[in-house]
Amino acid sequence: MLSSNARRQQAQHEIERLVDDFDQWEAAVQAPQYTTQLKAIASEVRGAAILLQGRVKGITADSPSIGDAYGSCVQVERQITWLWRVYLFYREKFDQREDDRFRETLHAADQVTWSCFRAYFDERLDVLVPEPVPLPYITDEYSPMALRRSDASVLISKNERDTLAGAFGTLPVPLLKLPIGMIANPWCLNLIGHEIGHVIMPLVGGNAFVQKFREALVAAGGEAGKAWGPWAVEIFCDWYGLITTGPWIIWTFAQFEVADMATMTKRRGSYPSPLVRLQLMSALANRYGLSGSAMLQSLGISPPPAGLYPDYDSDTAVVCDVANAIFDLPECAAVVKKVGFVADDFAKAAGLAAQWANYLRNSGAKPDGRPLRAARLVAAAAAETWNDLVFAAPQLPADAALEAIRQRTRAAAVSAGAPGVRASSAPTTQPDKEPGTVLLDFLTQAAEEDLRTEV
Ligand SMILES: [Zn+2]
Repeated sequence: MLSSNARRQQAQHEIERLVDDFDQWEAAVQAPQYTTQLKAIASEVRGAAILLQGRVKGITADSPSIGDAYGSCVQVERQITWLWRVYLFYREKFDQREDDRFRETLHAADQVTWSCFRAYFDERLDVLVPEPVPLPYITDEYSPMALRRSDASVLISKNERDTLAGAFGTLPVPLLKLPIGMIANPWCLNLIGHEIGHVIMPLVGGNAFVQKFREALVAAGGEAGKAWGPWAVEIFCDWYGLITTGPWIIWTFAQFEVADMATMTKRRGSYPSPLVRLQLMSALANRYGLSGSAMLQSLGISPPPAGLYPDYDSDTAVVCDVANAIFDLPECAAVVKKVGFVADDFAKAAGLAAQWANYLRNSGAKPDGRPLRAARLVAAAAAETWNDLVFAAPQLPADAALEAIRQRTRAAAVSAGAPGVRASSAPTTQPDKEPGTVLLDFLTQAAEEDLRTEV
């Protein structure tokens, strides 16, 4: 027997079940750093559930035929299924913090992320920041990647599962994908400064600043200056990484960039060649009073003789000019001031980063206090520690010793977390729109798309 009443009741129940499940989860989430983001998700999910309930009520027992009523129920049920997917997409990212495999790494990453991100805003730590901090989560990808609130479309093309991010028009939560390799290699925490650069760059001065930064590179690049244009965004992010986490970022990048000389001298789409990238970081570090040259030399990379790689020759020739151009941009000088960059933090042996490295190596006391910059200095110290205890050690440490260094590093980053509020004053709903309407549009389209593509 068919019953449109029973079907309608079923759909109604499914929405209630989803809302109950969501409520229970929301009440249990322990993520003070992300309350704003959670509120944004909750407002859209609950809003969409209410709107869907309205749709279910609209399916009346006196539909023209039972077939019509069933057809409408199927449509709404598909939309409910999509609502589950959206909810679970975000839930899984929060829930990783309760997963034994990821917990410590993410708690450490949360602190480093906050330290690199919060530095850009008001100095008083009891003030709400205007932008929500990105939510780091572990992915099965090789490289980290920051997804800003406006990057929903990037997600769609990148990975089908991430189509769900399109559900919110703009992401209510900027996301920070961390590579799974960060679990065994906590020195990868030192990549977070670069990723946060992607979130900060548009805040510095919107597209006009991106354009200005790009033009500064092209002008400094001389005859082959045009080649530098497409690298502007990644170079800005490298620069942001440098002023937040110091010269050990050069060592960290080198772990991914070093390859055979033909590869290391080849220009890339959004980055200069690996060797030029490292040289530029070194020149920039020097410009800010950091030990850039010494760091680059310590890697022992011999540049190729002139004439072998013409593109490399012309890029390497202008590295110092490019570094100077960045240093001279007033916007960059303002960011340096804002984030409270101090070269002394990175002074060899005595700087705060070196003190943390001493602590991680078990050869010094834990530095006092939890200033905002402490967590990111732990990330820098992690790179120094791995260099000394693993890469430069006469013998590789035994597994148990290495695991102890990992745990000590993560715990240090967590304990260095600065006090103060972490919520943001960013609006949690789309302006001028009833909560849930953006999401409901997405659910409707996604459900229709399902019908079109099913055979
Ligand atoms: Zn990047």
